[in-house]
Amino acid sequence: MSELLKGKKLLVTGGSRGIGKAIATKAIENGAIVYNLDLGVDPDMENMKKLAADNGTEIYGYTADVSNEEQVVSVCKEILEHAGSIDILVNNAGITRDGLMMRMKTQDWDDVININLKSAFLMSREISRAMMKQRSGSIINMSSVVGVQGNAGQTNYCASKAGLLGLTKALAKEIGSRSVRVNAIAPGFISSPMTDKLSEEVQNNYKAAIPLGVFGEADDIANAVLFLASDMSKYVTGQVLGINGGLNM
Ligand code: NAP
Repeated sequence: MSELLKGKKLLVTGGSRGIGKAIATKAIENGAIVYNLDLGVDPDMENMKKLAADNGTEIYGYTADVSNEEQVVSVCKEILEHAGSIDILVNNAGITRDGLMMRMKTQDWDDVININLKSAFLMSREISRAMMKQRSGSIINMSSVVGVQGNAGQTNYCASKAGLLGLTKALAKEIGSRSVRVNAIAPGFISSPMTDKLSEEVQNNYKAAIPLGVFGEADDIANAVLFLASDMSKYVTGQVLGINGGLNM
């Protein structure tokens, strides 16, 4: 265990599985008190609580739909009342609803924009107020390599992830004077149930385009979060950190 985030309070959205879970785990292992805000209750919460106890810290689970303004306002109030303050906000929850634009349903466009982008606006608005008052904080938005370079069949997803980059830079300019930093991470292909479903041929084609030749791990993203969350990055704001094996340079 390291003490990089000892006593820091970290709020992550979508922390019950995938990259969000790796972030919650890494934060706990580095001494943070974790608040996991997800759509449903984490079925693995007992194990996470045990991990937290073993590391001398705590984890709390909250539920809300991060695209729903009323729910976000209410749950953030509840979390802030409990925590007193939040030092690190990771806007990680996200979905895909892929399809070529010609056939894309408006609902699939709206869902992706609302859950991936509007959520970061709502969460950051509620939590950054408290960060500005305490004159410190780090907000980390989970974008994607395809938000930088585009991807056929993902106009909604790419627009939401590119939108997060604009939000990150604008907010970094708005609240930097209060010592609140705002950065984005743009993961490339990360091994996950989603990438596991691809055929070996498709996986190999993707890997051929990646200079490091392999998919990343959720832990690679959690390590980047650890850097942006901690004082190791105290002079870093408004940046996009690509974690993609060189897929985009
Ligand atoms: P994941 O395994 O699908 O996990 C997403 C998490 O977000 C789940 O816990 C999910 O809850 C939660 N969530 C979804 N909609 C929500 C809502 N409306 N309100 C609250 N929580 C909600 O995704 P992942 O692969 O770990 O990806 C995490 C983030 O990284 C996403 O923003 C994704 O776009 C980004 N990313 C991933 C990759 C990759 O290769 N995996 C690459 C680039 C970027 P439920 O389980 O209840 O649905």
